[in-house]
Amino acid sequence: MKELNIDITLCTTMKKKPAFDRLEFGRNFTDHMFIWNYSVEKGWHDPRIVPYQPITLDPAATVFHYGQSVFEGLKAYHTKNEQILLFRPDQNMKRLNRSNDRLCMPQIDEELALSALQQLVSLEREWIPTEEGTSLYIRPYMIATEPYLGVSPSKAYQFMIILSPVGAYYKEGINPVKIAVENDYVRAVAGGTGNAKTAGNYAGSLKASEIAEQNGYSQVLWLDGKEKKYIEEVGSMNIFFKINGEIITPELNGSILEGITRKSIIELLEHWDIRVVERKITMDEIRQASIDGHLEEAFGTGTAAVISPIGEFLWKNEKLIINDGKIGRLSKKLYDTLTGIQYGNITDPFGWTL
Ligand code: PMP
Repeated sequence: MKELNIDITLCTTMKKKPAFDRLEFGRNFTDHMFIWNYSVEKGWHDPRIVPYQPITLDPAATVFHYGQSVFEGLKAYHTKNEQILLFRPDQNMKRLNRSNDRLCMPQIDEELALSALQQLVSLEREWIPTEEGTSLYIRPYMIATEPYLGVSPSKAYQFMIILSPVGAYYKEGINPVKIAVENDYVRAVAGGTGNAKTAGNYAGSLKASEIAEQNGYSQVLWLDGKEKKYIEEVGSMNIFFKINGEIITPELNGSILEGITRKSIIELLEHWDIRVVERKITMDEIRQASIDGHLEEAFGTGTAAVISPIGEFLWKNEKLIINDGKIGRLSKKLYDTLTGIQYGNITDPFGWTL
């Protein structure tokens, strides 16, 4: 494993840490951050850890105008025997480079970027909350910084990592969520940027989420951008169904983000000798399965919640209730196993934790 030689400037005064039992997602940030600059002339240079602070950018920087910006999201977990674990961080670095490629942004050395991440997390270890279900959210991201208003790939970039302690996602137990199927807006289209983790995808998703929330639904189910027929994702999670004993997830088609939780669930189920069918799946099929009594479970998967069981779909004024609105057995088993591996309570047979 390569190590990045980082210049470190420590804070003179540390922040007061927030109450770790009352953390809101993404509101508190640790004392330090990592910055690495890139220019076409120099390549990647000046890797540094500095006190967490505002950054200065030229008002003409490409990121403000044309949105060349990619990000990642993962967590560091505090184990019962005082270890710090990262869950498949190599996969986040791989995805970052796939996003970079799609947005015409430079590739980063995945091992060196991971080394920077590990050094920053280790420096900030006091910020990793220890209460059950809590973690330190890690946000690596890259932005285009060249001051130029022409529409072309920027010649300068900044890669940064910031850290944010987060509370338990399920404070009151795992309650299945209600999902509104979105028939007007789409998140992504074939040939677009849906399979890249880039800022614009999230900006474009806000409108539909806002409407769903106003109607009492916690997230939207995204359908394909062309026919609005095939199921793609749920909120900012991938989706799985259990229909008549079979586990199905939409196949990766270029407009779906390849989640690391999705990949892990497929691999975990395979390890249990359960095959996941990756194929196109329509909302009509889900409705029919629901009517036939075959729709046993549905759940979203992602870093934030790990597993988010779905208790109801609203589709064209019809409510499809799943498993009486209760969490299914498979959802629960997957949640317990994955979080068990992440927090070091279950032996990791895959070598996923680092
Ligand atoms: N889809 C989208 C659009 C997302 O933003 C995320 C969160 N990164 C996911 C799926 C789930 O990915 P992961 O399991 O890697 O968190």
